[in-house]
Amino acid sequence: MASEKEAALAATPSDSPTIFDKIISKEIPSTVVYEDDKVLAFRDITPQGPVHILLIPKVRDGLTGLSKAEERHIDILGRLLYTAKLVAKQEGLEEGFRIVINDGPQGCQSVYHIHVHLIGGRQMNWPPG
Ligand code: 5GP
Repeated sequence: MASEKEAALAATPSDSPTIFDKIISKEIPSTVVYEDDKVLAFRDITPQGPVHILLIPKVRDGLTGLSKAEERHIDILGRLLYTAKLVAKQEGLEEGFRIVINDGPQGCQSVYHIHVHLIGGRQMNWPPG
């Protein structure tokens, strides 16, 4: 299986449907930990820690990555972060956690449907690789 970096370098930045559309429609199974009318949160298939959850908007609306954000996306961007906090509490991450948004090839983004990584349950390092 390709590394995350290889997957990111192979990915084509575009506004085409992604695997996350199939996760939203439940065509592809995932372990959902939170869902409302705007946000879906599910466990990452390749966890980078004891807890690794992806939070995504159910409607992409052109928001393939953070660099494509426009004013109309301010509400959903806030919701994603606030929901990450709720899910961190739900997962018992009382000692802290890390939020990551990868953007573009150099940022190691492999899926072009904006997503917030919530990673926790272990001691993090800084700087990231
Ligand atoms: P990115 O590298 O774009 O920031 O993150 C994409 C994430 O999506 C990766 O951490 C990868 O493991 C995860 N991912 C890719 N395909 C699937 C899938 O089919 N199911 C789940 N649950 N996660 C996926």
